[in-house]
Amino acid sequence: MNRIRLLPEQVANQIAAGEVIERPASVVKELVENSLDAKARRVTVEIQAGGRSLIRVSDDGIGMSRDDALLCLERHATSKITRAEDLAAIATMGFRGEALPSIASVSRFILTTRERESDSPEATQIVMGAGKMLEVKAAAGAPGTILEVRQLFFNLPARRKFLRTEETESAHVQHYLTLAALAFPEVAFNFLKDGRTVWQLPSVKTGADNAGRLAALRERMRALYSNEEELVQVDFSVAQDNSFETADRDPSAAGLERPVPSSLRVWGLIGAPGVSRATREDQHLFVNRRPVENRGLNFALLEGYHTTLMKGRYPVCCLFLEIDPAAVDVNIHPAKREVRFHSESEVRRLVSQAVRQALLQFHSAKAEVTPSVRTQPGSARPAAAGLPAGTTAQPALPEFPSELRPRPEDTFPAKQAGLPMGFAARNPVPQTSAGPAFLPASSVAISASDEAQAAKAELPAKGRDPAPMPSAPTAVPGRGAVPLLEVPLRLLGVIGKLYVVLESDRGLVLLDQHAAHERVLFEQMLNRLEQADHSHSQKLLLPETVELSARDAIFLREQLPVLTRLGVGLSEFGERTFLLDALPPFVKAGNARRFVIEVLDELKSTGQEVNTLRLGEQMVAKTVCRHAVKANDPLSGPELENLVADLRRCAMPYTCPHGRPTILEMNFRELERKFGRSQ
Ligand code: ADP
Ligand code: MG
Repeated sequence: MNRIRLLPEQVANQIAAGEVIERPASVVKELVENSLDAKARRVTVEIQAGGRSLIRVSDDGIGMSRDDALLCLERHATSKITRAEDLAAIATMGFRGEALPSIASVSRFILTTRERESDSPEATQIVMGAGKMLEVKAAAGAPGTILEVRQLFFNLPARRKFLRTEETESAHVQHYLTLAALAFPEVAFNFLKDGRTVWQLPSVKTGADNAGRLAALRERMRALYSNEEELVQVDFSVAQDNSFETADRDPSAAGLERPVPSSLRVWGLIGAPGVSRATREDQHLFVNRRPVENRGLNFALLEGYHTTLMKGRYPVCCLFLEIDPAAVDVNIHPAKREVRFHSESEVRRLVSQAVRQALLQFHSAKAEVTPSVRTQPGSARPAAAGLPAGTTAQPALPEFPSELRPRPEDTFPAKQAGLPMGFAARNPVPQTSAGPAFLPASSVAISASDEAQAAKAELPAKGRDPAPMPSAPTAVPGRGAVPLLEVPLRLLGVIGKLYVVLESDRGLVLLDQHAAHERVLFEQMLNRLEQADHSHSQKLLLPETVELSARDAIFLREQLPVLTRLGVGLSEFGERTFLLDALPPFVKAGNARRFVIEVLDELKSTGQEVNTLRLGEQMVAKTVCRHAVKANDPLSGPELENLVADLRRCAMPYTCPHGRPTILEMNFRELERKFGRSQ
C-alpha cells in the first residue's frame, strides 16, 4: 500500500509559516521588508494588542496588478529572483516567495493593492482566511499596498498559546522597526500601537556619498533616541587589490572556488571608548542594509574595542557593512536573520580594524596638535628611554610621542570625529557634556591646547599640516562636545588616596590614578612590543623549570613565539617541561613560575575567539595591572600632572586596559540637577 502523498498546499504553507512566522514581529518584518523592496517612501505600521489582534502595514510602494496580487499568495511566487543563480547575489530583502502565503495560512488576511505606475484608478482587494481565498474584488485605494493581518494563529491554538504578553510582543515589533528605520532613513516610518502614534519618523534626505549617509543616520537616530550618548563615526573601506587578496586564507578552503568580495565598506556610528552596555541589545549590525546576527561580526566588534571594554560589557553601535552580494550568503536562515560570509575571517578582521581605527582616531586627532602638553624629560615616563630611534614614521601624527603613538597598523588616515548624540544614556562612564564647550584662553596647570578643539571639530585629513594653527577658533557651537581629555584641566587634589580631583570649565572631573597609570604603562609596553622585534627581557639569575600537563604543554608550545616576543624566555626542556630563563623587566622575578602558569591560564581562557595579537595584548594588560602604581601610593602634584599628560598622549586614554574608566566628568548641568537648581 502506498503511504506517501503530497501535502495539500494549505498544510505546506502552515509548515512554512512555522519556520518563518514565529510571532507578530516576524509578520511585521516580512511585510515591512516587502514594502522596502517595493520602493516605498513611507511605511505605516499599526498593531493592536501586541499584534495579536491586528497588524496593518501600508506603503506607497510600486503596488501590484490584479494578476500579481493573486499570484503573490501562491507559494514560491516572487518577483525578486528568477533563477537559482540569483540566489548567489541577493540584492533585495526578500527572495523566498514564502512570506505572504505563510502569513495568510495562519491568519485572517486582507491584501489591498494598487499599482503605482498604472492608469487604472482601481485597487484590488483579496480576502483570505486560514489560507483560503474568500473574496477578490475591486476596491478604492491609493497607489501602494495595505496588508492587514488579523488574529494571528487563530487556527493554530497551540501556536497562539506561545505568544507572550502584549507588551513583550509589541516590544519585539518595535525592535524590528527600529532596525528598519535605522537602515532606511530615507523612508518615513509611522508606528501606531492601539491607536496611539508611537513614532512619526520623517523621511531623511540621504546623500549618495558616505558623509551624506552618515549624516542621515545621525538624524534618524536623533529622531529615534532622545538621550544623547557619545558616538564615534566609522568610515572605512577596502578596495579590491589589498587586504582581501593578501589576507590569509583558510587552508581548508584551498582549491575551492571562493568568491572574494571586490570591496567592503564599514560605516556607521559606534560608542566612544567607555560607552557600553551589559547586553548586546544596542548592538545593531547590518549587512547590505539587512539587520543580521553573525557571531563573527560580534567578535570583530569586541576585538575592535579591545581594551576599551570591560569584561561582560558590549558595544553600542549601528554599523553597516556593504559587501558584494555575491560574497555573502543570506539564504541560511528561514527568517533571513543570519548571514554567512564567504571570507568570514577577512570580513571579521576588517571590521575589527575599522572599529579600532575609529576609536583610536577619536582621541588621536587631538594628538596631532598638542605640542603644548607639558613634558618633563625623565620624569614619570620611563619607557621613553631605550626606545629604538627611527620609529617616527607617521607624518599624520607628528606630535604624538613615539612611545605612545598608536601602532602603525592603527594610524590610518581616517575621517572620524567624535560626536555626541544617539542612543539613550546607558553607561555613566566618560560622558561629555552635550552643551557648548568652554575654552578659556587662560593658561592652566594642565593645559590642552585650543588647537585640539579645532582639530576635533574638523575631520582630520591625510597629510594635514601638523603645525598648530596660529589662532585656532574655540569649539564651534553646535559641533558637539569636546572629549574630556582635550579640555584644560586644573588639579585640585586627591581624595581617598586614589581619586584625583580636577576641574574643567565644564565642571568636576575625577581621575582614577591607578586605572590611569595602568593605561599609560600598558600602552608604553605595547609600543615597545611593536617597535622592537623582541621585547626587552631580563635574564633570570636562577632559571626555573615548569612542568605542565600534556595538554598544557602542547598548548604552550604553540604560544612560544608570542611569548618570546613579549620577552618571556621560555624554551622546551623535555616533553612536558619548559625552562624559564628570562622575563620582561616589568615582571617581578620572584613570581616567575606563577607568572607562567597565570599567563598560560589567561591564554587558554581567551580561547580561539580572539586573534593572536589580542592574546598578547590581553596578557600584557593583566600583568601590567599588578605593577601599576598601587591605588594608595601618594603622588606629588607634578607627578599627577605628568600622569594626566601621559594619559592625554595615550591612544585609548579613557579606559584602563580592562575597560574600566580612567576619568569621569560631572558637568555643571548634572551638578545643577543634583542640587535641585534645575530639573
Ligand atoms: P518575497 O518577498 O520573498 O518575494 P513574499 O511572499 O514576501 O515573497 O512576496 C511575494 C511577492 O509579492 C513579492 O516578490 C512582491 O513582488 C509582491 N509583494 C509583496 N508585498 C508587496 C508590497 N508591499 N508591494 C508590492 N509588491 C509586493
Ligand atoms: Mg517578502
